[in-house]
Amino acid sequence: MRIGGLKETFDGEARVAVTPSSAGHLQKLGHEVHVETGAGARAGFSDAAYERAGVTVHPNAAALTEAVDVVVKVRPPTDEELARMREGQTLISFFYPGQNAELLERARDLGVNAIAMDMVPRISRAQKMDALSSMANIAGYRAVIEAANNFGRFFTGQVTAAGKVPPAKVLVVGAGVAGLAAIGAATSLGAQVYAFDVRPEVAEQIESMGAEFVFLDFQDSQDGAETGGYAKPSSPEFLAKQLEKFRELAPEMDIVITTALIPGRPAPKLWTEDMVRMMKPGSVIVDLAAERGGNCDLTVPDARIVTENGVTIIGYTDFPSRMGAQASELYGNNIRHMLADLTPAKDGTLVHDMEDDVIRGATVTRDHDVTWPPPPPKVQ
Ligand code: NAD
Repeated sequence: MRIGGLKETFDGEARVAVTPSSAGHLQKLGHEVHVETGAGARAGFSDAAYERAGVTVHPNAAALTEAVDVVVKVRPPTDEELARMREGQTLISFFYPGQNAELLERARDLGVNAIAMDMVPRISRAQKMDALSSMANIAGYRAVIEAANNFGRFFTGQVTAAGKVPPAKVLVVGAGVAGLAAIGAATSLGAQVYAFDVRPEVAEQIESMGAEFVFLDFQDSQDGAETGGYAKPSSPEFLAKQLEKFRELAPEMDIVITTALIPGRPAPKLWTEDMVRMMKPGSVIVDLAAERGGNCDLTVPDARIVTENGVTIIGYTDFPSRMGAQASELYGNNIRHMLADLTPAKDGTLVHDMEDDVIRGATVTRDHDVTWPPPPPKVQ
């Protein structure tokens, strides 16, 4: 098959879905690889680098789309990008079908077979295609780098001739993929890290990464835990206890990184305005939940603000794109693993096997049908 990587058109998006290195893997599966000119420029991959990897470069999106059987990209397609596609073509990208009903209908009407990278089931076998995790890992790491860049002090403690420096205290709220990556980055910079999650089973993971789990004195320790490893909304009593604990911690913490999300809901408000007011000048909050409304009351999505008491609040929503080269390498790998599953004989022939849990789970339109939401996966 001919696989084509489009240049992203979303403002500021630096990622690309095919890299020169992932192109090599796709070729070994028997595919031809194509890209639009400039597709990798913002991630550091020139047209010449693609050409050296045996990739055909096309002068624009229309020519690329026309030349290929499978279009791969990062962001959900724009109306214009989708309109260029034809019946029977396959699209692989983030899609967010739950928030993009019209896009789903348009893909169905056009007869485009769309595979949503955000719908890959989170089962062990599919980890190599789990782009939500690979991007959350980058976001958690980058959140710490942004915090450090906005913090006028060391993260690590030091004893020097010029004076003794205590380590920065970092609180990570929510210890899913992004939160655990943030814990790893902050501990490796030498900070003293604390972390909280409503799912008590993550306490062990938090501690194994060198951070301290913030325990709540609450009788029902399973209060916020849903089945399948996700959170559910906390009871008002649990939330009150949690906020009480955070109020206790707020004056002490130099950095707060919030990552708390509940599937299908706006982000829970966990870092309230009064907590921000209690923090020391120079402290930094990075709110990774900004796109879903933010965990902090004062977060402004896509912006960095400084409060009257000198607390910096970062609500950027493009953390993976801020590390475009790394994010493209990992996303490119997720995409090529998806294509490896779709090419079982490694002979360049695509087999869209709707009996396969992973392929079925991620397919949102197929043969003029909307196939989202999928039935629950059989393998856990
Ligand atoms: P997420 O982005 O949905 O949520 C981030 C974290 O916020 C979660 O840990 C959640 O428990 C927490 N949270 C929600 N409400 C909170 C509150 N009020 N206070 C504090 N924390 C709160 O999570 P995610 O990173 O997508 O991971 C979700 C689950 O999926 C985890 O159990 C993870 O281990 C699992 N997972 C499995 C696989 C796999 O097996 N392939 C891959 C990735 C993730």
